[in-house]
Amino acid sequence: MISVVTDFHSVFGLPDQGVRAVCTTRQAGSSQGAYQGLNLATHVGDDPRLVMQNRERLADQFDLPGEPLWLNQVHGAQILEVEENAVPENADTEADGAITAASNAVLAILTADCLPILLASCDGSRIAVVHAGWRGLLAGVIEAAVAGFQGAPLCAWIGPGIGPCHFEVGPEFKTLFPEPGLFVAKPGQRDCFDLPQAARRCLHRAAVKRVIQSERCTVCEVDTFYSYRKEGVTGRVASLLWRLRG
Ligand SMILES: [Zn+2]
Repeated sequence: MISVVTDFHSVFGLPDQGVRAVCTTRQAGSSQGAYQGLNLATHVGDDPRLVMQNRERLADQFDLPGEPLWLNQVHGAQILEVEENAVPENADTEADGAITAASNAVLAILTADCLPILLASCDGSRIAVVHAGWRGLLAGVIEAAVAGFQGAPLCAWIGPGIGPCHFEVGPEFKTLFPEPGLFVAKPGQRDCFDLPQAARRCLHRAAVKRVIQSERCTVCEVDTFYSYRKEGVTGRVASLLWRLRG
């Protein structure tokens, strides 16, 4: 579902439930320099006029049914409940996820190495988006989002983020994430943390059985996505999820 609007449930081999998803790339946007491409974040130092142009391009290209509800992401575990007819002015709330049963509310997560996770109940009646980095995982952001579905069977898509090929971490990570199998040892270098695998395990522990990982690393593919670790000052791609009006 990279840069094309996808019937979310088809990714899991399920019938269309009217849930649509897109994950953008940095290709073809107005931003320049460190932000080169389709940067969709206003908080990273990019020219706000260019970000607005990029957001307009996003809305046009994917025929979005409304303005995305941009969150002020803080690596916490707060999930914003979005009501019917929520207006974008109500967004920019401090939260690392959003959940809704409303139709045409376009939920959005911005990332550059952290994982975007898209969730929907198998019947499509409720959807959520999550911003999941290592701090969010420790804070319980995935569990918080899943709890908002009150036990309904779910589908989860783990989008592009920093992979175990590139996420070098210090020894303190083994204390933070003590379970085996989350680290890749590299001779003479620091260990790498497998963030997508850690996220997948959170989902499984929260009884989410249908999980698909994009397997794409934002550092390996820095020309396609943005990487905060590799580039420092850089832009953000967006992962969007919405329900069509039934
Ligand atoms: Zn990589």
